[in-house]
Amino acid sequence: MNSRNIENKSEGKGAFRFLMISLPYSGHVNPTLGTVRSLIDAGHHVGYVLDPRWRDAVEETGAEFIPYDRYPNNPNAFQRTLVAGRRAFSTAQRIGGSYDAVLYEALFSYGKSLADQLGVPGIRLSSTFAYTQAILDRLAQTGGAHVTRLVHDGLVMRLVSKPAHNRGLIQKNTIAAEIVSNPPDLTYVYTTRSFQIDSDDFPEDRFRFIGPSLSGHTRQAEKSIDFDTVRRPLIYISLGTLLNKSMKFYRACIEAFGGDKMSVIMSVGERIDVSRLGQLPENIKVFRSIDQLSVLRQADLFVTHGGMNSVNESLYYRVPMIVVPMGNDQPTVGARVEELGLGKVIPRDKISPADLHLQSLEVMKSSAIRDNLARMSSDIATAGGNDRAVREITELVGRKLAGKNNP
Ligand code: UDP
Repeated sequence: MNSRNIENKSEGKGAFRFLMISLPYSGHVNPTLGTVRSLIDAGHHVGYVLDPRWRDAVEETGAEFIPYDRYPNNPNAFQRTLVAGRRAFSTAQRIGGSYDAVLYEALFSYGKSLADQLGVPGIRLSSTFAYTQAILDRLAQTGGAHVTRLVHDGLVMRLVSKPAHNRGLIQKNTIAAEIVSNPPDLTYVYTTRSFQIDSDDFPEDRFRFIGPSLSGHTRQAEKSIDFDTVRRPLIYISLGTLLNKSMKFYRACIEAFGGDKMSVIMSVGERIDVSRLGQLPENIKVFRSIDQLSVLRQADLFVTHGGMNSVNESLYYRVPMIVVPMGNDQPTVGARVEELGLGKVIPRDKISPADLHLQSLEVMKSSAIRDNLARMSSDIATAGGNDRAVREITELVGRKLAGKNNP
């Protein structure tokens, strides 16, 4: 690298090379695509290490796509949960020498160790809440059996963590400790400080809350909707991409809203047998996957599972919510939505068509919820978004590089 280039870079002006790493889950990849696009728009290079199925989405941002080494084109659940992280790490380690900084989504808990081994700054991007041990404990109480076992049961946590520790993938003894007590230089959280739980526990010098990052990306979206033919109010229903197989939930929605004056758009994912929903009322349209942002832009109510991205997107478009959490972090996110008066929670085992119908009408006409959504919208507008992240990340990397070249 010539001296002019180093000088430019240390002033935050030059083009940096960023290595971005994520695990293969839409909810964890989608918001990072917005950040990557902003880095590229600002003139930087990004190499993105990810599962091969994300090639098109990554290349659309202008980033260089780098598939995990020795990884199948169609991974099964075991490969996605246990193999992906290790392959992501070894791939990034193999090529990482030519990069100025490592960016990683928070679920890839090996990012800090990777950045330290490469001797470059590490920057974490968090698509859900930032975590303390107390927040992880709360998730363990409400998130369902597998989260509880992983976070709370010391034995399971140690069994998963020990090989990672032995291989140098984490620096603390457990993955939980790595996440909460070994933060990198900077963590960017895709929500506002006002939405984060226990926000005083996250000092501003290390944690920056930049608000939602709407990438606009939809994998395998079927088609967009003709909103001219839609009747008001428009209710949008989705359980996201992971815990989205509850026939009981979909049937309750059809019974609650079917034949009513409203229009309903329901996205049900790839894994249920749609014919088992029976004959659909004419006011309900079912899709496997849709362009969620374009629907939320028009919707009057979002009946959601409470995935952090879906909630962020709903808040961005000021759409009130009924949250029916299915597991993982969703009960915690739902509780926060209700606590801040942005919508209501209906527990999945309590859902009945009559109650869902009644609560939906109440939420849609609540002026208190409308006011709270307006306040949240102004918090989002001032949080800084990806432009702020790019500005600060570039300054940090420039400073570190200058320090390295002039020790
Ligand atoms: N999504 C979409 N179209 C759909 C359903 C979901 O684009 O038909 C997107 C949605 O906009 C969000 C992501 O998939 O960005 C789901 O993430 P979330 O954190 O809400 O839930 P998860 O799928 O991780 O449970």
